[in-house]
Amino acid sequence: MDTTTNRSDLDVLLNKMKSAVSPLRKTLNDLYTKYRAVNDGEVATYIPELAKADPNWFAISIVSIDGQVVEVGDHQQLFSMQSVSKPFVFGLALEDHGREEVLTKVSVEPTGEAFNSIVLDEKSNRPFNPLVNAGAIATADLVEGRDYSERMSRLLGMFSRYMGHPVYVDNAVFLSERTTGHRNRAIAHLMLNFGMVRDRIEESLELYFQQCSVLTNCHDLAVMGATLANGGVNPFTGERALKAEYVKDLLSVMLSCGMYDYAGEWAFRVGIPAKSGVSGGIVAVVPGKFGIGIFSPRLDDRGNSVRGVQVCQSLSQQFGLHVFESGFTGRTLGEEFVRK
Ligand code: GLN
Repeated sequence: MDTTTNRSDLDVLLNKMKSAVSPLRKTLNDLYTKYRAVNDGEVATYIPELAKADPNWFAISIVSIDGQVVEVGDHQQLFSMQSVSKPFVFGLALEDHGREEVLTKVSVEPTGEAFNSIVLDEKSNRPFNPLVNAGAIATADLVEGRDYSERMSRLLGMFSRYMGHPVYVDNAVFLSERTTGHRNRAIAHLMLNFGMVRDRIEESLELYFQQCSVLTNCHDLAVMGATLANGGVNPFTGERALKAEYVKDLLSVMLSCGMYDYAGEWAFRVGIPAKSGVSGGIVAVVPGKFGIGIFSPRLDDRGNSVRGVQVCQSLSQQFGLHVFESGFTGRTLGEEFVRK
C-alpha cells in the first residue's frame, strides 16, 4: 500500500475541512466571548432543580445536515428539555392522527399570552397552539399507545430518534413538575370540560411532565434541529424521526409560536423556526442547511434564554438566515459550512 499517497490525500481532505469549518468556528468563538459577558436575566426557580442551574453555563452548537459539527462552551452539560420538547411531541401527534384531526384539538395561532396562561380560543374552545402549555398538554393527550407505559415508551423512542441515542428522564425534575404542576392540572381540567382532551388527564399530564423532564444537552438540540433541517432524517444515524410530510408543520408553528409571547418579534428580527424552554435551551432550524442549539439558563421575563435570543439574532443578521431574506440561501454561513 502506498502510504505516502494516502497521507497526502488525507492532508488535502483535512485542509479542505479546515478551511470549510474554521471561519464558522471563529464566528462561534467570537459570539461566545461577546455574549458570555451578558449577565442579564434570571435562572428559572419555580422548581428547586432548575434553580440549581449555574447561571454562567453557556454553549452554542451547530450541526449541518451532512453531519458536520461546530460547537463552543458547555455543549455536553445536561439539562431538562422543558418546552423545547413541545414541537417534537406535536410531530408524534400528527403521525398518530393526521393533520386535520389534530387541528380539531389544538389550533396553530400565536397567543401573545404567556406560555402558561389559562386561556382557550373562545369560539372553538381549542388551545391556541401546541407550543403553549395548554396546547402541549392537549398534544400529549394525542400520543397513542395501549397503556401509559406504551405511550411513554413511544414518546421516549421519538426523542431518541431525533437525538440519535437512548434518552433518559431526570426523575427529580419530573417529580417536582408533577408535585407543583397545579396550574397545568387546572388547564387540563378546563380542556376536559370542553372535550378537548380525553378523560385520562392524569395520565396525559404525566406524559407532559415526563417530556419536560427529558435530559438533553446543547449538542443534542443542534442534532434535533439538524434532523428537522434535513427533512426529518437524523444526519448521523440516517434514521427517520418524523414523516417528511409533517416537517413543515413543526417548522411553521415554531416560526409563529416558538418563542412564547416574543414569537412575533422573533419572526421579525430572527426569522428562523425555533423553540425555547425555561431551562435555557433553544433549538433553531435553518431548513435544508443546519440545526442550531443554544444553552444559557439566564431567562428574560418571557422565559426565553437572554443570551440565546441575542446569539440567534446575531447569527441571523450576520449570515442572512431569515427565511424571508431576499434571495435566501443561508448565505455566507451556508456556503462555508455546507460542503456541496
Ligand atoms: N415545565 C414547564 C411548565 O409546564 C415548561 C414550561 C416551559 O419551558 N416554558 O410550566
